[in-house]
Amino acid sequence: DADVVPHAPEDPLFGLMAAYRNDTFDKKVDLGIGAYRDNNAKPWVLPVVKKADEALRTDPDFNHEYLPIAGLANFTNASQKLVLGADSPAIREKRVCTVQTVSGTGAVHLGALFLSKFYAGRTAYFSDPTWVNHHQIFTNVHIPIATYPYFSAQTKGLDFEGMLDTIGKAAEGSIILLHSCAHNPTGVDPTQEQWKEISRVMKEKKLFPFFDSAYQGFASGDLNKDAWAIRYFIEQGFELCIAQSYSKNLGLYGERAGNFHFVTGASSDAESTISRIASQLAIIQRSEISNPPAYGARVASAILNDQALFAQWEEDLRTMSGRIIEMRNHLRSKLEEMGTPGTWNHITDQIGMFSYTGLTEKQVLKIRGEAHVYMTKNGRISMAGLNTKNIDYFAEAVDKVVRE
Ligand code: PMP
Repeated sequence: DADVVPHAPEDPLFGLMAAYRNDTFDKKVDLGIGAYRDNNAKPWVLPVVKKADEALRTDPDFNHEYLPIAGLANFTNASQKLVLGADSPAIREKRVCTVQTVSGTGAVHLGALFLSKFYAGRTAYFSDPTWVNHHQIFTNVHIPIATYPYFSAQTKGLDFEGMLDTIGKAAEGSIILLHSCAHNPTGVDPTQEQWKEISRVMKEKKLFPFFDSAYQGFASGDLNKDAWAIRYFIEQGFELCIAQSYSKNLGLYGERAGNFHFVTGASSDAESTISRIASQLAIIQRSEISNPPAYGARVASAILNDQALFAQWEEDLRTMSGRIIEMRNHLRSKLEEMGTPGTWNHITDQIGMFSYTGLTEKQVLKIRGEAHVYMTKNGRISMAGLNTKNIDYFAEAVDKVVRE
């Protein structure tokens, strides 16, 4: 009965957000948030989304019918092209199937559930650290989990040797979860040369790549560049899967727009393999959510399938990524200017929404107590929480705590 249900541990991020809300200090800074903020620390509805949204709302044929189980076809087809490239041989050769999901979280879940059923007995390897939800989602479907080294505390960059070494020792068939760009939480990505080496080792050891693509276009402002690793792996002939999210790059967070893609290597029976996989994914989807959420997919589909809107989206992506890159440059040069002890090149080397500052838990708590700056205990900051009005205040708070 209900007596046996223990209280779950508090989600550390929720606790942090509540503490921030309750803080009455006027210069408080929220660097915990995982969503884009404009220079006024406000949520930003992308102008292109506003446009698509208005057209949808005034469309006399708009209705609230169910989408098909696998999702809105115009959306899933355009999403394949977005992540794999419009001229992808995998699409041309019908080696891809796609199911629309409850955003990236739902895609990771659907993929994990599918693998737990049909790829049973394999261990999933996550970067240390990774997005915390990866652990919860895979644990929920009873897939054994291991980790590979990723972040080097010394360089505040990639522990490439450690990563390769562990991956190289994984059992054949193991699932290797990879962040396709803008690694969360560290902001550290492999270089293209390093990706090639990771691919080489994974191919040799017959490992299964599971790409989490939550920041395509949001990271660099270039949709193709941010999908480079996935496309390279596909070129190398891997069978792999991709969890795709439109939360960040379209700012559709609450609308839950995303997809799960499964890609097989080129072979004479690839099309029939994909058809079997698609049929199983549809059954799983039916029992999980029946039909995916419609609104975000409709907005995204309107943008993905219209040249003018697509071009405007690319501009909006450059606005977001450009502001974040500016904040990185400013923060680094301010710290260097003040002669803050330590090296700060990692602030600009890292990419995407987050930066692993290298601040210790003790320093994080001190900065929270004294300067009212809120970040997670691992020293991760959301770059989007910084703006021209609070960045110097933040840099000075870091300078002070580092010197103490
Ligand atoms: N994967 C990673 C690495 C993420 O950072 C996020 C967003 N925080 C997601 C997946 C999923 O986000 P959503 O469910 O909003 O698409």
